[in-house]
Amino acid sequence: MRGEGAQSRGSLESTASNPGCAPDALPRAGAARAPAPDHVAATSCPECVAAGRCEAPDPWSELADAARRRAGAEAIADHLGFCARHAAVLGAKPWPASLAPAAADGLGILAALLEDRPRYEEKLLQIMFRSRHACAACGAERRRTPIDPAALAGDAARRLCFPHYRAAAAKADEKQLALLAAGVLHSARAWQERLEDAAGTDEDATSAALHWLAGEEGIEAPGALPLQSGSPCPVCRAAARALQRWLDAACTALRLDLELRGLLPLCPAHIGAFALHAGARDAREVARQATEVIAAMLERGLAENARAARREVEESASVWYRRRAASYLLGRRRRALRMPACGACERVDVACQQAQGETLDLLASRAGREELAGQGDLCVRHFAGVYMFAPHGEPRMMLAARQRAALLRAQAALAGGGSGDEWMIAASQLGDPGAWR
Ligand SMILES: [Zn+2]
Ligand SMILES: [Zn+2]
Ligand SMILES: [Zn+2]
Ligand SMILES: [Zn+2]
Repeated sequence: MRGEGAQSRGSLESTASNPGCAPDALPRAGAARAPAPDHVAATSCPECVAAGRCEAPDPWSELADAARRRAGAEAIADHLGFCARHAAVLGAKPWPASLAPAAADGLGILAALLEDRPRYEEKLLQIMFRSRHACAACGAERRRTPIDPAALAGDAARRLCFPHYRAAAAKADEKQLALLAAGVLHSARAWQERLEDAAGTDEDATSAALHWLAGEEGIEAPGALPLQSGSPCPVCRAAARALQRWLDAACTALRLDLELRGLLPLCPAHIGAFALHAGARDAREVARQATEVIAAMLERGLAENARAARREVEESASVWYRRRAASYLLGRRRRALRMPACGACERVDVACQQAQGETLDLLASRAGREELAGQGDLCVRHFAGVYMFAPHGEPRMMLAARQRAALLRAQAALAGGGSGDEWMIAASQLGDPGAWR
């Protein structure tokens, strides 16, 4: 069912009553609580706080601004709709005010590009390559509260939530990166210890640790909902099934007291989704394992970088020494501090690739194309994933013509105010809460 995400925001309290895993008994009220680590007591991430009280318009009002409707429509077309977290908002009616006209125009732009493919093929492919890891609303969000690594690489690093550490680290120079990583390592260890000490008696610790892991945004609007997708797109449905299987497998592993390893959620959307759908005990165990993995990776990365820096100083004494470019060194430092991939994201990616491959197989033969004509329309992002690899000639032509018709239907549904199923067509073209990061 679409729209669950938007309806059940901020419901960490409801973790125990949600049926994703066998619900555990809630920790006893008033039970002994481990003392909070000094820096995590009553503090929160400065970037999350700044986003909360930011006076700039929220990302939706920027995209839906009637005065800049063309720019909003172009941003939606350029990014091929939205990521999973933002698509969750489209799953619930009503949409953010005035978004429908801008979205309708965005769909119209894409339909026009597909109508004259010989002329716009290169432009279409450019959009498709670029859009994989971007989203129109995410871009507006970043512009709203730009992150400044220089201001955070100090004491503030210890108060950063994990997603904001990653955002700051992506823009930091070598020195800032080391300070940020050291600060966030301190936090990760403190959370890990608090969760281990609490041993099932501290529901505040679980809730706060999940907030640290996923940030305010990840917890309040978990984009990836492990529910059967209502989307007509066969790839979105395959992604939603993979997500449900991931959640079941993770809960089973936790019940057997196993380490999750490849199943561990590490991105805000999937930590948020797990917090929403798993029992209280499982959520706590996932938070513990995630903080443990993050701390271990950071510790290893920082040690590796310190060794490399010492080696470089020693080497610089040699007459054969040639100074390396700062960007090269920064790349190596970043690589050492790279986090493991989120287990849920990996499973969703594999499911999407498989489903897109099946669509490509169908496209190759006449019988397959006839079968494809009876299937639901691809959403615009998954269409892009198939189109980039579709053979030229009849298969590519049929794929583009079908998508153009779907885009025009979605555009008409939005222009007409969108009622019932018609509005769902438009929402499912622009993204699915379960399918993308
Ligand atoms: Zn934050
Ligand atoms: Zn987004
Ligand atoms: Zn899709
Ligand atoms: Zn993920």
